[in-house]
Amino acid sequence: MLNVPPQAFPGPSSQQRAAAGGRGKVPLKPGRSLMDWIRLTKSGKDLTGLKGRLMEVTEDELAKHNKKEDCWICIRGFVYNVTPYMEYHPGGEDELMKAAGTDGTDLFDQVHRWVNYESMLKECLVGRMSAKPIAAPKEISTLSEEKKQLNGMVPEKKAQAASAKDLIPSYDWFQTDSLITIVIYTKQKGMNAELVIADCQDKRLRGEIIMDDHSYLVEVDLDHPVQEDMAGLFYRKCKLVSKTEVTHDTKLFCLMLPKSTHLHVPKGRHVYLKQIIAGTEIVKPYTPVLPFLPLNFKEPSHHEGACIYLMIKIYSCGLFTQALDHLQIGDYISVSNPEGNFKKTQIQTSEDVFLLAAGTGFTPMVKLLDFALSEVSCLRTLKLIFFNKTEDDILWRNQLEELALKDKRFEVQFILSQPTKDWLGKQGKISSSLLSEFVKRSKKDSKVLICICGPTPFTEQGVQYLKDLGYSQEEIHAFTA
Ligand code: FAD
Ligand code: NAD
Repeated sequence: MLNVPPQAFPGPSSQQRAAAGGRGKVPLKPGRSLMDWIRLTKSGKDLTGLKGRLMEVTEDELAKHNKKEDCWICIRGFVYNVTPYMEYHPGGEDELMKAAGTDGTDLFDQVHRWVNYESMLKECLVGRMSAKPIAAPKEISTLSEEKKQLNGMVPEKKAQAASAKDLIPSYDWFQTDSLITIVIYTKQKGMNAELVIADCQDKRLRGEIIMDDHSYLVEVDLDHPVQEDMAGLFYRKCKLVSKTEVTHDTKLFCLMLPKSTHLHVPKGRHVYLKQIIAGTEIVKPYTPVLPFLPLNFKEPSHHEGACIYLMIKIYSCGLFTQALDHLQIGDYISVSNPEGNFKKTQIQTSEDVFLLAAGTGFTPMVKLLDFALSEVSCLRTLKLIFFNKTEDDILWRNQLEELALKDKRFEVQFILSQPTKDWLGKQGKISSSLLSEFVKRSKKDSKVLICICGPTPFTEQGVQYLKDLGYSQEEIHAFTA
């Protein structure tokens, strides 16, 4: 992990410090007051010229709308047609025109950061900027030199930023009465919500951006320098909001993240839970699942966000799981940041995916299943081979069978090691013959991924059998501690 030293807040060269003071207002024409503007926005008039349609706006498209009669401005990733607003703008038309056809976030934040523009300009919303998950004021470099100075920017800082070619991220920030926005420039492609973790506890704000093989941390504190050792796992306290039965010994725990936390656990990764048991701090890993198996894969699912769902088997003599089982609704438990080495790219280009799970080794497969069926466009077959002791131990059996009926690409095979005599399905433990029967390429040269998870001997034997059957290291992912 790359530990970034504690940073003063605001940073010495921050835009926040350099922000210009108050701006003069221009007299507005009669009939152009704020109240008049609100009336106009409520009149039902089409203020964007798009008849209520929202569009994705490219930088090129934005740049075309740079005239008074056709003026679009981007603020924090959202594009507004501000032409109808021109005459109502207390700062005057010229002020607005400085950001015409560009990203005006910086300009806006220096002059109006307290203004609730989202609500004021709601009816002028044209759409979102395309491929820009975080609205970044870095586009300021496209403004002319004159504009930079007018906006209170420090040209040296920008010149430095523009020439910095290394890949070390940098950050900037700005603040309104109710919002702190930290913009982190990672220079990394494919940023998404799963790569960003943010927590706020007391006065400390902590942001972690997950890069390829390390993290970039920003810890800021409004009043005091940050002293805490930032190495190691970071925990936040989550509230147990529900506990539902999955099988006779397995429960689905729903843990609510603090309101100030943003955390999406990436597929294939686990978190650690921490409890003090008999005066000792105990930590165990668990793999977040979805609250249920989605049956409609037209759109990526977004169940996570406020809560983390864990499917946990309670062992009758298990130290940690017994303590977990005794937690009451409303109790708190510490949950770490995600860990693990599975990479989404391993599955993204796979045509045939095989998931070999034993018992709660099913947990990492839940999100993989969802992801493969909803987002892997080249996927032809997805097979879950699920090993359990008895029928009663099978997790989400109905949901899996329903999914297999619904989606032709998906197939599930249950294999029991201690079945009752009524069991008509497959029985046994993992073996070379079982694997050669169920793990087969759909085409001679199809791209295969085989994921395996369960008790350590199960995983180790499975990997060996697969290698013996000719599958390469790259085609196998074993989930281990
Ligand atoms: P312990 O006190 O360690 O063991 C007490 C007794 O319980 C043992 O003597 C044995 O009888 C029984 N027992 C404990 N563990 C096992 C076992 N693995 N196999 C068979 N019998 C056992 N578990 C989940 O339920 N859900 C998950 O999502 C999950 N994710 C995991 C992710 C990772 C990366 C790893 C390494 C493990 C994961 N586990 C998961 C297992 C979990 O971390 C604990 O090992 C498990 O909950 C048992 O903890 P315990 O303290 O209650 O049992
Ligand atoms: P279990 O005892 O109910 O066994 C389930 C099946 O696993 C059995 O029916 C059998 O087919 C197979 N199996 C069990 N022991 C075996 C052995 N010695 N050799 C070959 N096959 C064997 O399983 P459980 O209690 O649900 O345990 C699940 C395991 O999965 C735990 O050890 C847990 O730590 C592990 N797990 C790991 C991860 C991870 O990411 N690494 C995630 C979740 C669970």
